[in-house]
Amino acid sequence: MSVRELVVLGTASQVPTRHRNHNGYLLRWDGQGIMFDPGEGTQRQMLRAGVAAHDLDRICVTHFHGDHSLGLAGVIQRINLDQVPHPVTAHYPASGQRFFERLRYATAYRETVRLVEAPVAADGPLAVTDAYTLEAHRLSHPVESYGYRLVEPDGRRILPERLAAHGIQGPDVGRIQRDGVLNGVTLDEVSEVRRGQRFAFVMDTRLCDGVHASPRAPTCSSSSRPSSTRTSASPPTTAT
Ligand SMILES: [Zn+2]
Repeated sequence: MSVRELVVLGTASQVPTRHRNHNGYLLRWDGQGIMFDPGEGTQRQMLRAGVAAHDLDRICVTHFHGDHSLGLAGVIQRINLDQVPHPVTAHYPASGQRFFERLRYATAYRETVRLVEAPVAADGPLAVTDAYTLEAHRLSHPVESYGYRLVEPDGRRILPERLAAHGIQGPDVGRIQRDGVLNGVTLDEVSEVRRGQRFAFVMDTRLCDGVHASPRAPTCSSSSRPSSTRTSASPPTTAT
């Protein structure tokens, strides 16, 4: 059975609090693990939430403020320490390449894993898999930022009562699915389109927008809010 679940590892912005870690989120999606915005302390939060380095297939960073990215150093080194056998792909704003490289190579360690750098420079699809298409969309923030969206492909569900009404059975069911029509009956008449699920990870920049007009150095002053539409059946697991 496929599992779709959002594991919340932290929700604090700017600084961690006594009870809330910096940002950090893991989306489990049909056997794939997609991490969003690993802030400081994410590695330890993974331990508390039962998330292993092996669970990670992608890391998506919205922007390079520390509360959304300082955990990259620890998470990347943990992936290598645990010798995760599959490649891990990192998406992040292209203008922050130098920040990514600094975090990736913050200290000495032995690289054992293929970490694919896939910087984002424009809106559009980043990856297409059988389970989802991953898209990026530019957000408004003092530093270049992107929101991410997973889109499940639409599916089609055959309706047995419609098949029965048209007297379609046995091998003919496969034929109408393959050919789209059978003896004048179209596939649309005996099935319905099931809209794929969507999951969007978009940080809340409303408060940060106010920072634009501030003479102070721009910082991130709002919480990230993962928003999900028609996604996991189970409530988010929290380890904040
Ligand atoms: Zn920020």
